[in-house]
Amino acid sequence: MKNMNRRHFLTTTMALGAAAPSFMVKKSVAKNNMPIILCSRGEMWGRKVLQPAWEVLEKTNNILDAVETGANVVELDPDDTSVGYGGLPNENGVVQLDACIMYGPTHTCGSVACLENIKTPSSVARLVMERTDHIHLVGEGAKRFAIMHGFVEENLLTDKARLEWLKWKENLSDKDDWLAPVEDIEGKQRSSGTINVLGINAHGEVAGVTTTSGLAWKIPGRVGDSPIIGAGLYVDNHVGAAGATGRGEEVIRTCGSFFVVERMRAGLSPQQACEAACQRIIDINDPSAIDFNVKFVAVNLQGEVGCASIRESGGASPELAYWTKSGFHVYQGKTLLN
Ligand code: ASP
Repeated sequence: MKNMNRRHFLTTTMALGAAAPSFMVKKSVAKNNMPIILCSRGEMWGRKVLQPAWEVLEKTNNILDAVETGANVVELDPDDTSVGYGGLPNENGVVQLDACIMYGPTHTCGSVACLENIKTPSSVARLVMERTDHIHLVGEGAKRFAIMHGFVEENLLTDKARLEWLKWKENLSDKDDWLAPVEDIEGKQRSSGTINVLGINAHGEVAGVTTTSGLAWKIPGRVGDSPIIGAGLYVDNHVGAAGATGRGEEVIRTCGSFFVVERMRAGLSPQQACEAACQRIIDINDPSAIDFNVKFVAVNLQGEVGCASIRESGGASPELAYWTKSGFHVYQGKTLLN
């Protein structure tokens, strides 16, 4: 069965489904807004990420290449301190990356967690999906697998990230041996980030990627929602795709992205489904303890998008950016609290 799945996977990805058995290829009919590619960021990163991704999609119609291309943009950019190279490290000052990818037509997926020294974890996750019959590789094993496939080990800790980490460490407590040069409350904040890239090609094939350096200053070995299929990402070729960012523990314990996709399957719009997932997290928490944020983005087979967060981030409502034949757009979602 495993071999058959792999054969099937290769057939469908290489021949765009033409030769694959119909019982496994979940084809959907391309509708209104197709093709579409979106990411969980606004104007600035949206353009940076989606322009190359859209070019790949338009030229090749290969949805996996398109979402991977988009994710790689942020992973390789040292200016973004929440994803890939330049990401903020764990409490020991080591950058550990999490990422996953999922492909609708074969319902296959791949994932890596706590990956060190490799700049593009989403590309490694794709190889886990395409070149193994496993789904999830972690830590040293994931790194060896990447190196085996030609990835180069590199230092991921930029000076910018190292200095922010040092500031955090020095400001942790006034009862240890560390002396901060200046009192800086920013150093006490636990910033986070992540990006979801979701897309549907002209044949209605759905795919998605989620990639992150995770919660800043996390305990070494901590895995967030981003590489967990059903939490940080979920794709279903009959329904659409969803991704999550924010407090990963809350997304894991509500199976957040799976929840969004299942709500869309039940008839909700992507916007309603994202709001329902945020509401679920609110409902299982003591309201006074909600000092975190979670955001969901989603797209359905009609090319409708949705976006909701529990709280505002930086005083703004949540947004996503998407690219279709009509060009680049920014979509404003809804915040449930505040
Ligand atoms: N969801 C990520 C994690 O918990 C972090 C984030 O998106 O801010 O690792």
